[in-house]
Amino acid sequence: MNAKIIAIANQKGGVGKTTTCANLGIGLAMENKKVLLVDADPQGSLSISLGHSQPDSIDTTLATIMGKVITDTAFEPKEGILKHDEGVDLLPANIELSSMEVSLVNAMSRETILKQYLDTVKKQYDYILLDCMPSLGMLTINALAAADSVIVPVQADYLPAKGLEQLLQTIGKVRRQINPKLKIDGILLTMVDGRTNFAKDISALVRETYGGSIKVFNADIPRSVKAAEISAEGKSIFAHDPKGKVAEGYKSLTKEVLKIEKIRQKHKAGISR
Ligand code: ADP
Ligand code: MG
Repeated sequence: MNAKIIAIANQKGGVGKTTTCANLGIGLAMENKKVLLVDADPQGSLSISLGHSQPDSIDTTLATIMGKVITDTAFEPKEGILKHDEGVDLLPANIELSSMEVSLVNAMSRETILKQYLDTVKKQYDYILLDCMPSLGMLTINALAAADSVIVPVQADYLPAKGLEQLLQTIGKVRRQINPKLKIDGILLTMVDGRTNFAKDISALVRETYGGSIKVFNADIPRSVKAAEISAEGKSIFAHDPKGKVAEGYKSLTKEVLKIEKIRQKHKAGISR
């Protein structure tokens, strides 16, 4: 195994990054993939949504491990990793991570601290998903530097806004300077209201603007209170409302993500169709 690492990123908050990380992760686990979810947001929302309602009381978090990488201190292979009963592993985060932006400034190889950590665990997983914080600071740069690809959740109504441009610039810069193989898997439309043609319009707009270089996932995630309820319950949409439209959306997304990987593997093997 050599995990595919996907960063779920958008510097805008409230667009569905954390919800996507948890549900895509558990979706992949349901397809028998070994999955590690990394909470890279000091708010600890991913940790909360996977059942750790008080992340600040967790002793060992991403901050602990990144601190050890920075100071060249040894750590245990599975140190800090928690298990969720729907089959995913979680490296949690809490408020301690907020001092990391500062610690990173003076660290050697500061952009690749997270990558150095993930290199030590990636053989044990098929997928590692990174739940980014809502900023383009050092933690998000670390996630982009460590990732093979990025998924960008976008609240459908916000797509034409300036924010996406900024994110794409940052991705471009990371590609040029640190991680040339970084790909954009696609834009995921989240919180889509029942306007069936709207998602199509958005896809057309993205195609017009970025000339086919950025894809919009066919799957989109409908707006539903069911999605908002799960974080309080500490479980996925597949456990909370398995027959609902949000579960259906995340299931389709899971399938698409698996398909992208299959196509890439084929390309690598030189078997083109
Ligand atoms: P981010 O991580 O980008 O800040 P979240 O995943 O935390 O975004 O989602 C922001 C808020 O919207 C949360 O309260 C979440 O429960 C809610 N939410 C997420 N997805 C949906 C959805 N499909 N429909 C309705 N509410 C949602
Ligand atoms: Mg979040």
